[in-house]
Amino acid sequence: MSAATTRSRTPDRLCAEAVDLARAAAEEAAAPGVVGEHEGLVREGDRVVTHLFACKEPGYRGWRWAATVARASRAKVVTVDEVVLLPGPDAVLAPEWVPWSERLRPGDLGPGDLLPTEADDLRLEPGYSGADEPTPNAAVSPDMAELVEAEDAEVTEGPPASLSTVPSRGSIASVAEELGVRRARVLSRYGLHSSADRWEGAFGPRTPMAQAAPAPCVSCGFLTPIGGSLGQAFGVCANEFSPADGRVVSLAYGCGAHSEAAVMPKTPQPAPPVVDETRVDPFPLRPAPDSGSVPAVTDEESAELGHS
Ligand code: SF4
Repeated sequence: MSAATTRSRTPDRLCAEAVDLARAAAEEAAAPGVVGEHEGLVREGDRVVTHLFACKEPGYRGWRWAATVARASRAKVVTVDEVVLLPGPDAVLAPEWVPWSERLRPGDLGPGDLLPTEADDLRLEPGYSGADEPTPNAAVSPDMAELVEAEDAEVTEGPPASLSTVPSRGSIASVAEELGVRRARVLSRYGLHSSADRWEGAFGPRTPMAQAAPAPCVSCGFLTPIGGSLGQAFGVCANEFSPADGRVVSLAYGCGAHSEAAVMPKTPQPAPPVVDETRVDPFPLRPAPDSGSVPAVTDEESAELGHS
């Protein structure tokens, strides 16, 4: 390391020694008694040094009073440049500001809240732009196209604020309006894909529920099909006992409430009792003395049985 480099990184001696001058300046700027210990100095440049003092105000924990002093070349007098309160490494700071549109999370919208959609929202695209421009091989004749263009020009003259939202009579947009299928904006390809990815993540085949399911939704009786291109991969679950009830589910999703895969166990039926009342079985009160286990009926017992 050269001597010049060493010199350039060393704080100016006179400025570094001007701690009392810096403290006096800091105390003048701060409230009385809030400037604490000298915590160090920082070389800002040639003959420019900032002295740091602890801030004793309870609301500014970790902040420091910074008094910058300097002197002119070949001058012996050090003067004060500025005094500011700066956050130190342990200062309590507010979180970095984030725009509301980035802070917003699904579920934040409450009743009565309005969520504006940007004009250039990538999830949407114009619903009817270009609808009235006939393609080269369209059935609309060039004369008719010119007529429609003339009508449009007549209607859309003037500044944007006075533009008419009513489509010209006879145009495709007008017919679409009459049929109730015209929307200013519709889902763009990007919006469609991002929705599909989101639904796939929440109720898709890679979720633990689907992995443990006995069968996929595509074969479940509770799956309600949806229209459009999304209907090729998604449907709506209509099983109130499923965690996905009322949600869009992937056809490859599944849960334990699948209508067919889980069969209810049948209640076991006991065998019908056998009752034989067509004959009398004699049952001796005592076993016969001369035989093993087969008891014999005595004459008295037989007589008693006959009278009873
Ligand atoms: S009940 Fe389960 S398997 Fe059936 S559609 Fe709903 S989520 Fe899919």
